[in-house]
Amino acid sequence: MNLSTLQPITVTCPRCQTETQQRLYGPCANCVAELYAKFPGVAREMSTEDYVPKMNVTPNAVATKD
Ligand SMILES: [Zn+2]
Repeated sequence: MNLSTLQPITVTCPRCQTETQQRLYGPCANCVAELYAKFPGVAREMSTEDYVPKMNVTPNAVATKD
């Protein structure tokens, strides 16, 4: 997912109940900063998992006979 293409949405911060505009649902920037100060490495900007497994169907199990 390319985060730069997401449009900001109005979300209510689940921590301080402040309405804010951001691209993803979660704590507002202030809370993220506070959480990050308390728990370095934990309060990162959340991103949805965007892993799409490659569907490389290679017929390597199929016998290639002439
Ligand atoms: Zn907040």
